[in-house]
Amino acid sequence: MELLGKYKLVVGMEVHVQPKTSQKMFCGCDADIWGQEPNTRTCPTCLGLPGALPVPNLEAVKKTQLLGLALGCKLNENSRFDRKHYFYPDLPKGYQISQYKKPLCENGKLLLESGNYADIERVHLEEDVAKSFHQGGKTLIDFNKSGIPLIEVVTRPCFRSVEDAVDYCKKLQVICRYLEISEADMEKGQMRLEANISIRTLEMEEKDELPPYKVEVKNINSFKFMEKAVKAEVVRQREIWESGGMPVQENRGYDEFKNVTVPQREKEEASDYRYFPEPDIPPMVFDEEYFLNLKKAVARLPQDLRKEMEEKGVAKEQSRILVEVMAREAVEKFNGLVAKGVEARKAASVLINRKDLSLLGVEEIVTRINEEGVRVSDIEEISEVVENVVGANPQAVLDYKSGRGNALQFLLGCVMRETKGRSDPHVALDLIKELINKNVK
Ligand code: ZN
Ligand code: MN
Repeated sequence: MELLGKYKLVVGMEVHVQPKTSQKMFCGCDADIWGQEPNTRTCPTCLGLPGALPVPNLEAVKKTQLLGLALGCKLNENSRFDRKHYFYPDLPKGYQISQYKKPLCENGKLLLESGNYADIERVHLEEDVAKSFHQGGKTLIDFNKSGIPLIEVVTRPCFRSVEDAVDYCKKLQVICRYLEISEADMEKGQMRLEANISIRTLEMEEKDELPPYKVEVKNINSFKFMEKAVKAEVVRQREIWESGGMPVQENRGYDEFKNVTVPQREKEEASDYRYFPEPDIPPMVFDEEYFLNLKKAVARLPQDLRKEMEEKGVAKEQSRILVEVMAREAVEKFNGLVAKGVEARKAASVLINRKDLSLLGVEEIVTRINEEGVRVSDIEEISEVVENVVGANPQAVLDYKSGRGNALQFLLGCVMRETKGRSDPHVALDLIKELINKNVK
């Protein structure tokens, strides 16, 4: 990345996900607050009134543990809630109930597209705070959001590129949706990203030495902004390093209009929060049977589904689209088609490319494919023709690489001619793209 010059990037992520539950984290209030009138989903507990007692929501606990399992974490048999103290108008009791020393889940990892792993430090459960608005010189507070459950997933400073960090967040979103842990809709604030960003020298990287600071960019609400925020922050930090200084540890926000990060408050150390065990909630103890039942509830994970597809011959890009973009229904159809004897590669291609077929039921798709069956869909046979055609038309390949879409149609035309119109054009097109892209790398 040119942006970094001679420096190396270090990023750790903190992601908050709102698990889908019917009630709030520590009270019986309705958790479905989107679009509701302010302060209509409240009670003494989530208003933080003195003497009100919190009762943990088991549904939220289970969803946190489910996510922990999906991320390969160890689930703690003993876990507890802690009070995290700080003063803010949206936190009237003066502390947030969170988890500190004994989170529900610890030490996981997640394989990324690049082949690197995200190194998960912990997955814990906490409550959200209220929402403040600034209007006409006054601050108004809506307590509907107060006490909404939040799962926080924290990684170690393991990302060396923006791409890996963004990919990690996307994968986390896919997993949450697959396992029905959360809708993870970023526009509704159901998934919020915070990036801890620092840069260091090559020598530091080689010695595995972390920079003496990190800058936390808070509340990023889209993948696109996250990428921009990290890049903007790198530019700022690099200038400080280059002028002989060292960036200070602080929280910053991302200004999407000016494309810069702006200072917020200085970053607290853990000791500033004066954590201590929440005295109103007994520690949680989970037994083996409970964990066994939980494990049964974990459906196959998206990354495993992709691996299975790829083992059946589906290209990486296709498995990514089917599993991570089109999601559950497409995967079910894929499996249905394969079970009915459709070649995996063909099934993937039909679902991704044939809008006229992909919306039909499995039976109907199979019937239609069989009607079109005179076409060659044998990958080997088409691959050979594709290789010949691509090899014989270097100019068309160059045209395609420089963004001329027609070139692809031209190559496809050649393949169709060579096979006397019997190739499945969608399969052929995929193979052409794949071959060209492979040669690029
Ligand atoms: Zn309440
Ligand atoms: Mn948090």
